Amino acid sequence: MAEISPTAKRIAENAAEVRRRIAAAAARAGRSGEAVKLVAVTKYFGSEVARQVVEAGCNVLGENRPQELERKAADLADLPVEWHLIGSLQKNKVRKVLASASLIHSVDDWPLLAAIQSASAALGKTAAVLLEVNCSGDATKHGFSPEGLEQAWEAWPAHPNVRVRGLMTMAALDGGPEVARANFAALRNLRDRLAARTRPDVELRELSMGMSGDYEIAVEEGATIVRVGTALYEGAVAMSH
Ligand SMILES: *Cc1c(COP(=O)(O)O)cnc(C)c1O
Repeated sequence: MAEISPTAKRIAENAAEVRRRIAAAAARAGRSGEAVKLVAVTKYFGSEVARQVVEAGCNVLGENRPQELERKAADLADLPVEWHLIGSLQKNKVRKVLASASLIHSVDDWPLLAAIQSASAALGKTAAVLLEVNCSGDATKHGFSPEGLEQAWEAWPAHPNVRVRGLMTMAALDGGPEVARANFAALRNLRDRLAARTRPDVELRELSMGMSGDYEIAVEEGATIVRVGTALYEGAVAMSH
């Protein structure tokens, strides 16, 4: 491999540290860190930085805006990258997102799920999604309410071109670590209750939870996917937010 840039080198060091912390948190919970997937969030920067993130050894990238995902996926088409959409999706963008994203973390209502079904049927493929749950009760957050999801579980129609692979949540923004832990535990408990009510189109294996500030707590509480941005860029690229 060609020599990597100082920026990519620093991102690689940061990613290694994140992975070490994931492994330690997983060990505390009696799990293996290898069972936890790191989604490197590239939304703060353009395609050039995203390319360095891949050079740094991260090949699962997350974007929160469909248009940005599409643009970066095109710019990095020469690289072996798996793209995840982690932010909200409007029905009219579904088709385009399905062309480049391998997992949509942010299905937050039934009409969106139905739109994903029709778009993926039209494309002759099967879409993989997570259902976003608002575990914090924060009114500014998207997602199903836990109660709403439990009430509707048997009632929503089967979607032959969609596989629901798990649940996703974001912890309350300013609640601190104990509130985050309670939010993550709530998602895990909800997953356990729903998984006991088997549906043929659902396989609730993934729990996407944890960001730079709280991913260790999330892994202790059972996360199988963490979405980390900020922590990867420390000392590597100046952040503007
Ligand atoms: C931005 C974002 C992240 C990453 O947040 P950091 O604090 O930068 O790690 C994770 N998940 C979602 C849904 C996001 O929008």
